[in-house]
Amino acid sequence: MTELPPRVIPPAQSRCLPWHHATWSSLDTLFKKERLPHAMLLEGQPGTGRNRLALSLARYLLCSNTRSEGNCGGCKTCILTASGAHPDLSIVMPAETGKAIGIDAIREVIRFAAGTPTLGRYKVILVSPAESLTPAAFNAFLKCLEEPSSETFIVMVSASGYPLPATIRSRCQRWQLPSPAVPLGREWLLEALGEAEASSQLVDSMLELCGGRPLEALEKLQSDDCDALISLHRTARTMLQEGRPSRALEQGVANVQPDSTLDVLESTLQSWLRELPATQLRSQEALRGFAALETIAQLRAAKRSGTNPNVDLLRFTVTSAMNGLWDK
Ligand SMILES: [Zn+2]
Repeated sequence: MTELPPRVIPPAQSRCLPWHHATWSSLDTLFKKERLPHAMLLEGQPGTGRNRLALSLARYLLCSNTRSEGNCGGCKTCILTASGAHPDLSIVMPAETGKAIGIDAIREVIRFAAGTPTLGRYKVILVSPAESLTPAAFNAFLKCLEEPSSETFIVMVSASGYPLPATIRSRCQRWQLPSPAVPLGREWLLEALGEAEASSQLVDSMLELCGGRPLEALEKLQSDDCDALISLHRTARTMLQEGRPSRALEQGVANVQPDSTLDVLESTLQSWLRELPATQLRSQEALRGFAALETIAQLRAAKRSGTNPNVDLLRFTVTSAMNGLWDK
């Protein structure tokens, strides 16, 4: 039995997102022809619905009354997959975003793979994101991929372009998932929020902040931090556009959690650098902008490894790097 992480709560019927329709249609066709490969790697940008597609596929494969657009939502299997209590579905995700998936979790998966399906024809193993596996976990997981059972489907999710071990990639059929164009992501986001919550200005700001990734934008728009994130993004964007330090930045940084601060400033800096004319990419400001990105990457790495738990120091460092773009 697998408990779904709190952030993955599917509705009765899992349906793919509009930008995944073509992929879904191919998966559905292959399954009906009994040609769906038993190990699949779904590669896409985080925050664009990769997990939603993987979960929809898992539920579709287990549903006893499958239709082309997805699971039926009403059969015993669908009720069990919605609660995470289906005995033939094993979901392996890190306990927290950014944490590793260790060998113990994979040993459990190997035991799961060795058994026969309890309720239907198939079992499904969903691993996401694959890049969270430790090297030892990858090695152990190879066992599942090397001895595929005709009753088991393995669905792995990973970030586009992430260099997974060749031994893993070569044993999976790879599916490149598209990211939505901004207007399509925006339209979906407005609909997902419903009229009451949707302010198109807020949606535009959050989509910009999230690099056009609509599911990430939705999560942030529904978080308690939403206003503080937008405010920090606007402060940082204004100072970059106007080309001068901002006193408001310190306060903006203080109002946001350290991890989110790094995400917001990184995303705002990247957009600014992307939009600079080529002739300005070697300017003093641009070079300091790249240096500030490097500082952010180092702070994130230090925070992950637990060597820099000092929040005040992190806030000071990142504010100084941003305001220092225009030092003489
Ligand atoms: Zn069903």
